[in-house]
Amino acid sequence: MKCYLTQNKDGEYQELVFAEKRSQAILQSEAYQWDGEYINVQATRKPEYDKYAEQGYVPKQVLLNDGWWFECYGRKAFGRCCKALTLEDSPLVVNEHVYCGKECLENAGSEKVIVEG
Ligand SMILES: [Zn+2]
Repeated sequence: MKCYLTQNKDGEYQELVFAEKRSQAILQSEAYQWDGEYINVQATRKPEYDKYAEQGYVPKQVLLNDGWWFECYGRKAFGRCCKALTLEDSPLVVNEHVYCGKECLENAGSEKVIVEG
């Protein structure tokens, strides 16, 4: 399986997809499911992530190191935190969710946080 970065023509719905062929990656992508037009979806090879095909996802920490950003998965009193986090924010990555820090992680809800060990 090969890794492709799929996105629609506006650069939204970016997603890493593992597939044997470019066409499969497109059909499998969120961008295609949202847009419905095959021609509007781009798939760019990401050979550096091929090694994660077996586990089916690229670890968030790896993506952060590569310059990706994620919304904080945690909660604050008023609801989802959703802060945009890059490597510079030194976010916490727990169970493949990204948090600004301990406070957001603890408020995420016990059902979503599994303490390892
Ligand atoms: Zn947060």
